[in-house]
Amino acid sequence: MEEIINKVAQDKLDFNVGLQQLLQYDFESLFVTLSNYIINSIPNKTDYNSEAYQNALATIPLKPTYTPLIILKTYPTKIAFNKLPLLPKSENDKIIISLLWIFKITDTERRNTECKNGCGHFWHEIY
Ligand SMILES: [Zn+2]
Repeated sequence: MEEIINKVAQDKLDFNVGLQQLLQYDFESLFVTLSNYIINSIPNKTDYNSEAYQNALATIPLKPTYTPLIILKTYPTKIAFNKLPLLPKSENDKIIISLLWIFKITDTERRNTECKNGCGHFWHEIY
């Protein structure tokens, strides 16, 4: 699962192909992994917000009226991440699409900035 997520983030695997593979995993572990990855990829540890994060929210490839998108845009990152798993199961796929999209953008930003001159993130070297 971790490898698929990082390959999608690094454009080594098509977003939709990777997404279909990830949706085979159970929602709980996928959600925990993706939300932790996003939190870790945002340099601002005060409110876990950044230009890349906001840019990601604005470009999620889903209808902006879907509940998970409204929650993500309304609440600060960590509060939104606490609310998402409480939604009905019918929202699960939309949540995963949103989080995978966000991580792709926030991780790409990190790779182009703080990781640019080498970093200790093993997944940026291996995958
Ligand atoms: Zn790195």
